[in-house]
Amino acid sequence: MGTSKPQGGLVQRSVWGSLDLSIYLDAPAVVRAIAPNEPVILNRPQAAGRAARFFATNFPGKSLYAVKANPSADLLAVLWDNGITHFDTASIAEVRLVREALGSDPTLCFMHPVKPVAAIHEAYHIHGVRTFSLDSHEELTKIVEATRGRDGEPAADLSLCVRLRVSSEYSELSLASKFGVDLVDAAPLLQATRQVADCLGICFHVGSQAMTPFAYVQALERVRAAIVQAAVTVDIIDVGGGFPSIYPGMEPAPMEDYFAVIHRAAESLPVSYSSELWCEPGRALSAEYNSMIVQVEKRRGTELFINEGAYGALYDAAHVDWRFPVKCLEAGRGEAMEEFSFYGPTCDDADFMEGPFRLPADIQPGDYIEIGMLGAYGAAMRTRFNGFGTGIDIDVRDEPMSSHYNGTRRDPRQSDNVVSLR
Ligand SMILES: *Cc1c(COP(=O)(O)O)cnc(C)c1O
Repeated sequence: MGTSKPQGGLVQRSVWGSLDLSIYLDAPAVVRAIAPNEPVILNRPQAAGRAARFFATNFPGKSLYAVKANPSADLLAVLWDNGITHFDTASIAEVRLVREALGSDPTLCFMHPVKPVAAIHEAYHIHGVRTFSLDSHEELTKIVEATRGRDGEPAADLSLCVRLRVSSEYSELSLASKFGVDLVDAAPLLQATRQVADCLGICFHVGSQAMTPFAYVQALERVRAAIVQAAVTVDIIDVGGGFPSIYPGMEPAPMEDYFAVIHRAAESLPVSYSSELWCEPGRALSAEYNSMIVQVEKRRGTELFINEGAYGALYDAAHVDWRFPVKCLEAGRGEAMEEFSFYGPTCDDADFMEGPFRLPADIQPGDYIEIGMLGAYGAAMRTRFNGFGTGIDIDVRDEPMSSHYNGTRRDPRQSDNVVSLR
């Protein structure tokens, strides 16, 4: 069994044997046609395209797609075709991947604050990357050295973003401890970076799945303090990722509220007149792109043994108790629901996902389940451990299990708690 992975073009045909698998409406249609006994990834290019257009149109600045959330070449092409022109890469492999998938037109930004010198050199001199992030004087020195011209002259076209440490208290996944310069140490680093940068930026990350727009307000207040203390001219404010998707038990405010609150807070910062506002959504652009069909191989009480797990697309379900939406695909199961946990296919006790996942009480071995919202940090997390992690992917045309972008999430009552922040 193999996956056909053509690079670049918008319309992809997944081919499995001689079957054309690009024609199915939804998961039940796939199950009826091929009764797969390995997990099948479902792609929803139209949902990802809609998310891309939403950010490209509504975010009051530039949106960089954070490639690590889902580096699928097909997804990159969909985002590019729908208005995402900038990509946030975090390794030289991601830089090469985007160049291979989309060519030389997209603007690539290398936003990992700790990079090998060789990676900076290749990104700048071979792939045309001009934007880098940093959170230390050591990294600044590496960037300056690795981007010198043949004549030894320092590069005059660098956009350098200083990563500020901010709180993750409003997010489901913290990104607060690893990267970012503390506010108390930020002024000298901002001043030193200003000396060598053509454009100076400040970036941060509030943590993934930020459940309230207030997370960004609080972070932007710290940005304000950093700018005031350093007394430097700032050209780019980059509010990073963290834009949420919708999962069971995690129903964030509409995305419009996040954009409005960020816009207002950023407008009031003491930055240069021509400054730009950037964001780096990973999850919000990719979560709706994938779901997965899995099969129940054994039932033990309320524990279901399924053929995907902690070493596959359900990494977050196992390691941070993420609750993905589930749907039983078997016709004829009863109405009564029960809460289940999952075991994955490997021989490891840790291959366990507590859930709870609500499924029909009479679900049985052999039944198929669709697990939704796996486009962000799901499909991208699959390993080959224990011989699993292979399989096919198929495009489908139905709606994702939940969406920020289908026009149903503009209920003003949901935004009552955020309109009066300033
Ligand atoms: C992971 C990451 C992102 C994307 O974060 P999401 O929470 O998926 O939006 C953006 N920027 C940086 C620097 C990251 O490391």
